Amino acid sequence: MASGTSAALKFDRPELQPQDSISVVIPAYNEADSLEPLYDELIRVLTETGLPFDIIFVDDGSYDDTHLVLKQIRERDSRVKELRMRRNFGKAAALSEGFKEAKGSVIFTMDADLQDDPSEIPNFLAKLNEGYDLVSGWKFHRLDPIGKTLPSKLFNKVAAMTTGVRLHDFNCGFKVYRREVLEHVSVYGELHRYIPALAFGNGFMVGEIKVNHRPRKFGKSKYGIARFTRGFLDLLTVLFITRYTKKPLHLFGSLGLMLLSAGFLINAYLAVIWLMGESIGRRPLLILGVLLMILGIQSISTGLLGEMIVHVQRKDDTCVASNTERNGQME
Ligand code: UDP
Ligand code: MG
Repeated sequence: MASGTSAALKFDRPELQPQDSISVVIPAYNEADSLEPLYDELIRVLTETGLPFDIIFVDDGSYDDTHLVLKQIRERDSRVKELRMRRNFGKAAALSEGFKEAKGSVIFTMDADLQDDPSEIPNFLAKLNEGYDLVSGWKFHRLDPIGKTLPSKLFNKVAAMTTGVRLHDFNCGFKVYRREVLEHVSVYGELHRYIPALAFGNGFMVGEIKVNHRPRKFGKSKYGIARFTRGFLDLLTVLFITRYTKKPLHLFGSLGLMLLSAGFLINAYLAVIWLMGESIGRRPLLILGVLLMILGIQSISTGLLGEMIVHVQRKDDTCVASNTERNGQME
């Protein structure tokens, strides 16, 4: 099974103990019909785990009966919480709010539309117990139209190649995290699908299991083909965040140096022929040389500004695994 396990350090993650607890975060946007059956299935599976749990539904500005159904469930069961977004902010924002509320030491995310099968929860926990910090689902037999599965395949290949996290299904909403992962990774915009890449960038162990995927019974999908174009732009953001946020000068500086030296070489050549008596004032090459030098200096300055920002922020950041004192060891 693929996993982002190329990190040199592997800490022995403690196995889940009875004092551990589970939070399930479920973003829901107009999913009224799916919520009752989802709740029933979840309660059955979560009770079987033997761990204390709570379920946090995040109503992402729904205009159907989502809130009403959730209210009825909440009145019956105090383990169920509901957060209501002021308007539809999107899945990443909904998840992010849910994470703030989640108190469990292990946090699941899943879709509200019954496509994710709660009976996979024990398999996720078993994988987590193998020593992973984050386990992502892989909709192996995906039950969506081909117009969705094909671009998705391409998208996943590119994302896996560029981020180095060898997952097959970045878009799968069914995942489980150890609490500390979410304390180190912030989700905004549409970056929820890259949490594994961001976590991997932070040195966490990322694993994957195949999950059962069911067709959508009620309501309709909220995403069209636009997901993929935006997805690729988000990929750029993630690449930048994971590789260069700690050392912006490496990116902007090397780019700047390249531009600056190209400009310098051009201008040096022009200077030589000018000294030999040729006129260079009307040569387009002169404009190019000057332009490249200015761009180069600008890029280096941007990198230096970035470094200053990183320097100021550095104090609040820790990269030490919190479980090293518990029973960490090196392999
Ligand atoms: N969702 C959300 N806010 C949105 C769009 C979607 O909370 O703006 C939720 C939606 O209710 C579902 C999950 O995110 O629980 C995944 O959405 P969907 O099923 O439409 O995506 P697909 O399965 O088609 O990829
Ligand atoms: Mg769905």
